[in-house]
Amino acid sequence: MRIPAKFRANGLEWSVIEGEVEDVYAITTFKKQTILIEQSLPQQLKEQTFLHELLHVVIWSAGLDTKGSIFEDTELEERTVNSMANGLYQVLNDNGLLNKD
Ligand SMILES: [Zn+2]
Repeated sequence: MRIPAKFRANGLEWSVIEGEVEDVYAITTFKKQTILIEQSLPQQLKEQTFLHELLHVVIWSAGLDTKGSIFEDTELEERTVNSMANGLYQVLNDNGLLNKD
């Protein structure tokens, strides 16, 4: 999977940056539309982490993390995003659907 430097989601342009991140694999800053991924991660973990953060972006873009919405509980969002991203990455990877270019 190619991790793009920029991508569009819900009409907004987002940036993906690699750098030093403490304690977690990545940080998504919604106000700045930026995903910062820990630079020292192995490539496959970077890709899986990118998918993980992308799902957070989709949820945020759809407003599903707002009060009264399904992911108002941030722990529920985290567990759901984690299982979906890991499962999706495994299916895409195991079936040769990740473009390696
Ligand atoms: Zn997360």
